[in-house]
Amino acid sequence: MSDNRAPLTAPHTSDVSPSVNPSVQEELLKRGLVRVSIAADGMDPLLDKRLKELRLALRSDAPPQMLAELMPDLERAVLAADDARQERLKKITSGLHSLIRQLQQQPAPDDISKALQQMAKRLDKPIGSASSVPGLLGEVVSLQASTLGAETPRATSGGLWSRIFRSSAADPSTSSSAAIAAEQNSPLVADAAAKAPGEPFGVLAGEEQHYSQVAAHIETILLNLLGELQVLDSQQARCEQLRERVSKGLNWYELAAAMDELAALVMGAQQSRQADFERYLQQLNRRLAQFQGNIEQAQDSYIASREVGRALEGTIRGQVQELHVDVRQATELESLKANVEVQLDALLSNVEQSRRLREDREALVAGQLETMVKRIQVMEVEAQTFRNHLEEQRQRALIDSLTGLANRAGLQKRMEEEFERWQRYGGDLLMAVLDVDHFKSINDRFGHLAGDKVLRLIAQQLSRRLRKSDFIGRFGGEEFVLLLPGTSQEQAAIALEALRQGIEESPFHFKTERVTITISVGFTAFRLTDTLDDVFGRADRAMYQAKEQGRNQIVLAN
Ligand code: GH3
Ligand code: MG
Ligand code: MG
Repeated sequence: MSDNRAPLTAPHTSDVSPSVNPSVQEELLKRGLVRVSIAADGMDPLLDKRLKELRLALRSDAPPQMLAELMPDLERAVLAADDARQERLKKITSGLHSLIRQLQQQPAPDDISKALQQMAKRLDKPIGSASSVPGLLGEVVSLQASTLGAETPRATSGGLWSRIFRSSAADPSTSSSAAIAAEQNSPLVADAAAKAPGEPFGVLAGEEQHYSQVAAHIETILLNLLGELQVLDSQQARCEQLRERVSKGLNWYELAAAMDELAALVMGAQQSRQADFERYLQQLNRRLAQFQGNIEQAQDSYIASREVGRALEGTIRGQVQELHVDVRQATELESLKANVEVQLDALLSNVEQSRRLREDREALVAGQLETMVKRIQVMEVEAQTFRNHLEEQRQRALIDSLTGLANRAGLQKRMEEEFERWQRYGGDLLMAVLDVDHFKSINDRFGHLAGDKVLRLIAQQLSRRLRKSDFIGRFGGEEFVLLLPGTSQEQAAIALEALRQGIEESPFHFKTERVTITISVGFTAFRLTDTLDDVFGRADRAMYQAKEQGRNQIVLAN
């Protein structure tokens, strides 16, 4: 609280000149008070109310008694407003202080570190008056700009994605967004580029402008990625939150944070898949151990019952021998008969026991076998699920998510396979490189999302018009590569010309406007001494020749 707050109830007559008559004096005082009260308006709601009451009383010539009654409330309101003001100033000081402390964490050149230190020291003391706040804020903002604008800290701060994104965005030669914006030659970009290279806000604004032109495109890619990401149930909510954030639109600053979050989710998903696989292997291990246990058990019981069986066989053999002896030594038929009968009974009962034992043993082994068969079936199903899962992952890595065609990796794989097959079996093999004409202008005129749609439609057309044995991959951007096995140059020329014509005649509509899309194609047959690169180079050069010759045509490489 400041010390210069004399109670308002004390009379301030000493300020008024003694030569003025008292009623004029009172009038002047009243008017002065009304003006001061107006000046103080808006500081605090309670104070505003009290001042309004005071103004009403002064304007309506209320008796001094009534004015005096208003004073204590007014005084309290003034003191409370002043306390609140001091509190606000304290909060502003501490906010600025913590901002400076955060900035001090960033690596910065010596002169900026020094300026930050001095500012931190100034902010150790509370700000004396509200009038100094704007100046101070200005200084802090410019310090923040210098700290964050310095190249080194920007390249090293932030998460993985923000680092990758920022560093690539800062270099127009490697940044797709910057490249797209630069190609579009927009006045905004030209403006940003005109700023001095070290100018911190200029650089940032340039990035933002580049970004804003491709934001929708990036958001779609992120949403696609999120759609395809298979996360753990526990991460589902996090994934959903990110999806919502991205759907609402991201500014340049939010993008880096969203990328970090996405990277964390991707890593998490990857780890969970690995954990899944490890769990499966452990389960498989347990099952195999059980399986081995079962076999051992079956073997043990088999051995045990075989022992019992052998003992029983021994007994039976002994009984038969005894019978032999009895028969040989018998002198009397009656006693022999009786003896044989007893022996035969014993023998029969032993045979019966042996049969039961064998049946029990067989039932036991059959049961154990059945359990094992069931276990093996379960293991087979599980292994198949995992094989499918792995295959799906493998396939996914080879597919371009925008068009559903093979991506560059898929294309490379297929090119190698076809090349190998062609080397082994010979025959005709043809490669065509296909590039959409003036595609940049589609993006420029209708936006990247429309451009994406065109790419999808072209991919559909290509897939529809080619044979099953032909292969199409997206080489990148608006370039596609076709492989046509068992096709001669003449046949290929006809097929590719039909393709070119088909695309030219396809109705592409943007809102109400009908736009003709054309493609330029270069193609070549595989030749005996060719490497894959040779073939591709030749087809690519022929495609450029088609561009030079006026686009919307097919050119056979010579
Ligand atoms: P040209 O007839 O000489 O081939 O002209 P072009 O405009 O088609 O060729 P250029 O190489 O100058 O531009 C290709 C553009 O394709 C640049 C880039 O913005 C755009 N592009 C690349 N990939 C994509 C994508 O996935 N989606 C969208 N919408 N545009 C893309
Ligand atoms: Mg191109
Ligand atoms: Mg093109």
